[in-house]
Amino acid sequence: MAYRAPTWDEDPEILRLWESEHPGKKIPGMPAQKEGLCSAKLRDKDLKDLGITRYCSKSAGFGTGTHVGYGSCKFHGGKTPAGKTSGERSMIKQESREVAVRLSNPDPIAPPEVEVLRLAGEMKEWATVMRERVVELRSFEVTDAAGIEHARASVELYERALDRYSELIQFMIKIGVRERVVAIQEQQGQALAALVLALITSPKLGLSLSQIDMARDIFAERARAMGTRLSPDWAESLEYSISDVNQDEDEVIDAEIV
Ligand SMILES: [Zn+2]
Repeated sequence: MAYRAPTWDEDPEILRLWESEHPGKKIPGMPAQKEGLCSAKLRDKDLKDLGITRYCSKSAGFGTGTHVGYGSCKFHGGKTPAGKTSGERSMIKQESREVAVRLSNPDPIAPPEVEVLRLAGEMKEWATVMRERVVELRSFEVTDAAGIEHARASVELYERALDRYSELIQFMIKIGVRERVVAIQEQQGQALAALVLALITSPKLGLSLSQIDMARDIFAERARAMGTRLSPDWAESLEYSISDVNQDEDEVIDAEIV
């Protein structure tokens, strides 16, 4: 992709003043501080002589290695101890702000059986990620000590992930998670059906017996047609998770090859 120089809202007065004193020379920096950019005040003598204030337009943390994206660039103290600390601090601050936002909107906790299913899904994902890393490591020659250490650490992490996952699966089978979740779904279905029944048999509506029958038929038909859409949102991934409980014993055996 071709590089495109960024543009700012320039003050034409300032540009004219600069051009009159330094014809053909580009004015350094940018007119205002900007998030994501170094934004340090430029100490350029030519600018000072004309009474113009400009700011560094390098990316924030440019060339510092430790706080790229945050704080001053390497030309404006980003690599001095103070610049480093301040850049790293604003990086951590931003990251913890993001975590705080996530923590303040936690997902509601579903019934424990359902949480176990979700957890199993996450553990499986993690094991898959680790497996990919192990396969990746196998695909190129590892010869130096650091590389071997790294490969061993990855294999260990993968094995641990599999062990925990297999423990959880055994636990799920033991406590009958599948049956429990189906029971929870049934309870909810029954509660909904009871609600609809109370509605259509309410004397206030004054429906005749044949109308009530018709309403029940329609309800049953629609409920069947909607299928999983009637389920609460925690049940969305359920099909997948429940089938995992049965299939994954094979997978755990496969893992011994590694
Ligand atoms: Zn700078």
